[in-house]
Amino acid sequence: MKKEIEVPKNFIKNIIMQDLKEGKVEKIITRFPPEPNGYLHIGHAKAICLNFGLAEEFNGRCHLRFDDTNPAKEDDIFVQAIKQDVRWLGFDWGEHLYFASDYFDELFEFAVELIKKNKAYVCELSPEEIKKYRGTLTEPGIESPYRNRSIEENLDLFYRMKNGEFEEGSKVLRAKIDMKSPNINMRDPVIYRIIKMPHHRTKNKWCIYPTYDFAHCLSDAIENITHSLCSLEFEDHRPLYEWFINELIKNEPKPKQIEFARLNLSYTVLSKRKLIQLVEKGIVNGWDDPRMPTIAGLRRRGYTPKSIRRFCELIGVGKSESMVDMGLLEYAIREDLNKIAPRRMGVLDPVKVVIVNYPEDKEEYLDAINNPEDLSQGTRKIPFSRELFIEREDFMEEPPKKFYRLAPGREVRLRYAYFIKCVDLKKDKNGNIEEIYCTYDPETRGGNAKDGRKVKATLHWVSAKHAISAEIRLYDRLFIKPDPTADEKKGIDFKEYINPDSLKIITHCKLEPSLKDVQPGDRFQFERKGYFCVDPDSSNDRLVFNLIVPLRDKWAKMAKK
Ligand code: ATP
Ligand code: MG
Repeated sequence: MKKEIEVPKNFIKNIIMQDLKEGKVEKIITRFPPEPNGYLHIGHAKAICLNFGLAEEFNGRCHLRFDDTNPAKEDDIFVQAIKQDVRWLGFDWGEHLYFASDYFDELFEFAVELIKKNKAYVCELSPEEIKKYRGTLTEPGIESPYRNRSIEENLDLFYRMKNGEFEEGSKVLRAKIDMKSPNINMRDPVIYRIIKMPHHRTKNKWCIYPTYDFAHCLSDAIENITHSLCSLEFEDHRPLYEWFINELIKNEPKPKQIEFARLNLSYTVLSKRKLIQLVEKGIVNGWDDPRMPTIAGLRRRGYTPKSIRRFCELIGVGKSESMVDMGLLEYAIREDLNKIAPRRMGVLDPVKVVIVNYPEDKEEYLDAINNPEDLSQGTRKIPFSRELFIEREDFMEEPPKKFYRLAPGREVRLRYAYFIKCVDLKKDKNGNIEEIYCTYDPETRGGNAKDGRKVKATLHWVSAKHAISAEIRLYDRLFIKPDPTADEKKGIDFKEYINPDSLKIITHCKLEPSLKDVQPGDRFQFERKGYFCVDPDSSNDRLVFNLIVPLRDKWAKMAKK
């Protein structure tokens, strides 16, 4: 029996239940805040499922907010792709689509308010000097010589920054907090910088842009977010998040930042900064390459939204970073496809079989079950004739001990068809097998012998003259190391660990003719082989399939150990 994988606990759920119970919040409001500087990956799916999932479960709502405060890296192409991916995963933000850039006016006013409270100042140290003055974990920072300007002077300079009077990098606005704080984030962080670059939404309206730390918490407050869930690397920023909120926001309930561990997945990388390198260097064929851990890549590969949501449920939400085995993702997709994917027969590496006692011009149609896991999917007819294809690896001229498939003198079952027995074979001049000659037993129609005799193997097959040809793309892991970034400290780039065999294209695959009219995105199980999905590269005269995942369930084996 298959071992059930338990759904782990989610500590954030407990916090929310407590807050609702104590009346701290009436309705929970969460948000998913992507920066539109790349495509979403499976790590983002974790954050999406968490934010939208909790909102759904507790009758609240979840906003989709683009954190678009850095015009240098952002683009509307990414905005559109991200919206498509969130929708495809099965979530709906309704009317609650927001952009941090929509709040630039309000954020500017918040900054002015801080200056007026004498809690922010315009600093003219260079970026390098700011870094140097900031100190280290063991040494306190040094106050900027510009720290004690008058409020009037700060206001004047800040407005002039806004009006474009100064060069990029010549001035910034900093919060006045504490240069001696043990938390470096509190040592007068920069909240506005000059970037003379058009923004994909506000165009040329602004030449100063708020930093993430300033924009994020205040955007949360503007939207009345109750629980602001982010990954662990922001834990040290929480005091700053709370400082801005306490200085500038009066409304209750104030948004609360809660951190959770980000997802790391074995044999891949989950960072837009790294993924973009794979795309730009041509190591993969774009963001939606089926080997990519992006949502677009997984979708093209054939993953279902349900399987990704299930995966996110199985990994749980905790406080400590860990590496999740890729096998768990494969488990989730097999679990889903086993129930929904119709079975078909397809021969990936064909070798011809001639049934010598089958009439040359005869053909017949045999019944095949579409999905033994779901009989409501019915049956179909598959053609049988004198010449067939079977998988080359299903025949051995000199079989070793544990090889039970076809061999000279041996009888096997052809799925849904007949028993056949190998009587002869033909080789080409290099010794490769060209044709295998067999007899069939008409008394075994449907795949069972009337006299009750048994065979040890059942093979898949297709009728040669009815078969359709296809290209199949077989995928393996993108990297050869479980953690390709592990040696970065030693100066070894993660790209050194690319798996050179992550894509294998095989072109002359033979499929049963019922697959003639498939559409991109259709998914099937090719019996004994794996799950496959029709690729959008397919056209009327070209059929291309992607391997989603092989049948062998490595995860189940690991779970048993
Ligand atoms: P990347 O490192 O891939 O660039 P990011 O954090 O910079 O990721 P954002 O667009 O800022 O990307 O992320 C949006 C949200 O998704 C954030 O709340 C972030 O915490 C979350 N997120 C990003 N990566 C992961 C991950 N691997 N696991 C869980 N959540 C993640
Ligand atoms: Mg980020």
